[in-house]
Amino acid sequence: MNTPILPGSAIGILGGGQLGRMLALAARTMGYRVHNLSPDRDSPAGQVSDLEVIAPYYNLDQIRFFAAGVRVVTFEFENVPSDSAEAAAEQTIVRPKHSVLHTTQHRAREKEFLRSIGVEVARFLHVRTFDELSSALGEIGFPAVLKTATAGYDGKGQYRLDREDDAPAAWGAVGKKDAVLESFVEFEKEISVLGARGVDGSFVHYGAIENIHVNHVLDISIAPARIPAATAQRAVELTRKILEELDVVGVLCVEIFVTPAGELIVNELAPRPHNSAHLTIDACATSQFEQQLRAVCGLPFGSTELLKPAVMVNLLGDLWNDGEPDWAAALRWFEVNLHLYGKDEASPGRKMGHLTVLGATVEEALETALTARAALSRTL
Ligand code: AMP
Repeated sequence: MNTPILPGSAIGILGGGQLGRMLALAARTMGYRVHNLSPDRDSPAGQVSDLEVIAPYYNLDQIRFFAAGVRVVTFEFENVPSDSAEAAAEQTIVRPKHSVLHTTQHRAREKEFLRSIGVEVARFLHVRTFDELSSALGEIGFPAVLKTATAGYDGKGQYRLDREDDAPAAWGAVGKKDAVLESFVEFEKEISVLGARGVDGSFVHYGAIENIHVNHVLDISIAPARIPAATAQRAVELTRKILEELDVVGVLCVEIFVTPAGELIVNELAPRPHNSAHLTIDACATSQFEQQLRAVCGLPFGSTELLKPAVMVNLLGDLWNDGEPDWAAALRWFEVNLHLYGKDEASPGRKMGHLTVLGATVEEALETALTARAALSRTL
């Protein structure tokens, strides 16, 4: 079971998005063959894989057939149905294991797990009906945030409540089903820690990365985070603990609120590579995607050293409102690295790509990244 899966072998990725694409690119660089399964034709990950299988995640026969053709199956998103992960595990090694997905694909389960291991989370209540929401509001108070229990991402299926009258709209926004009501955290900063854990329990991390969101969607990531070193160290320690307790083999990102008093409140776990660590491709000795590959293949980790301060800015579909962005304009700064995900339809809020900029300081990298992104839509 612990024999390394060596280059030349085929790995399987469930999910066709950009995270799968960047994992596939890392895997192909190291000489692996990549099989990808997603419901969409010509998906970002499928485009760069050796084999693109188009099938729904709930078709267990196709999942079994797919899994039988690879040495290991991993994920690029956590909402693969648990039956599918189990079906894959009948045929081959699945990393991270099914129980990691089970815990992290339901917000209430995830928060209960975190609380059970002594990690702080915002006050929350699991609500299943409108009446439960009304009484939960009495306990949690305002402001509060209502989130779908499953399948929420990038602020989708999320609603902020400031008064009792907001309850009907909030209940409608989460689809009138299984949800979590949590208190709104007045944070000073948002950070994330991307950790990787091997089959032998070895652990590496990229330190604390600072994140700035716009409309609940990640906009900017900054490494290293501008927080005291001791706070970053505590964030790394709680990440290590979470990966150990969940017995993760692979990568997992912990999204954390830092309060003005320096407390760390965990918002969410993602048992896969994370948007906030995309900057590791250009800024670190080994990227998060290569670490995911090494972890699931049972290989030793590479160095996570940050070569220079770095900033990543997301490129959302809105940038295409006036036509194709001016790529040449952004590339005038030689520190700018452009990453596009191969999506041909740009819709507002859709993650189409990102820019990463390395600088002598975080401030310098930030300024160049923002200027370069602005240049994309500037009419010359
Ligand atoms: P999520 O989908 O849970 O990752 O939330 C997306 C973003 O919404 C977070 O990164 C925060 O910026 C914001 N947010 C979510 N939950 C809360 C909360 N309880 N308090 C304050 N801001 C929140």
